[in-house]
Amino acid sequence: MVTNGIINLFCLDFNGEGAPYIQIDDKQKNIFQKYFDNLDVVKKYAQRHKVYWLCIKKGEIKIDGVSALGHCEAYPRSKTLNNYHNEVRQYKVTLRGDIDLHLKQKEIQKINAGFGIDVNEKDFYYWLFFHELGHTYEANKDYHAGATVPSETEEELKAKQKFRIKQEELAKKYCVKLYMEWKSGLNIESLPG
Ligand SMILES: [Zn+2]
Repeated sequence: MVTNGIINLFCLDFNGEGAPYIQIDDKQKNIFQKYFDNLDVVKKYAQRHKVYWLCIKKGEIKIDGVSALGHCEAYPRSKTLNNYHNEVRQYKVTLRGDIDLHLKQKEIQKINAGFGIDVNEKDFYYWLFFHELGHTYEANKDYHAGATVPSETEEELKAKQKFRIKQEELAKKYCVKLYMEWKSGLNIESLPG
């Protein structure tokens, strides 16, 4: 699958009315399970946040020229962008799939020191995923990835920068919340749909 010039290793498509979410073959499923050992958990969280596409990408993800490990995009349902902010709330989450051990360990150290928690290598992609979920409407209504901010005047640009910083702060908070919820061993069935 190719979107926006990105060659994805693969995408899980959670979309489709009543369709089974895994419409990937066993080979793709095996690849996916290298990142997430429990696809049911991933599905549950994705659906709860209206993330309909989850992609693992080979190579760097660049957002405004800055390298990132993940990205959350609000996805338009149609070409008409009227009411985009209010009505269209589907998301596509892309995660970088080729993070080497060194970078992973460095990131984990930062996370554990910064948040006072204990993320291990096995949980790392859940952490990245939960962070991106923090950019959805379900997580942070006024700061979700599809919120539009004017950026024409200098004032507006400054405000936009502040907005971005706040957006990240809130996504980080939400990520910790989801991570703790997940780690507390809540039965998957008891998670709100
Ligand atoms: Zn973020």
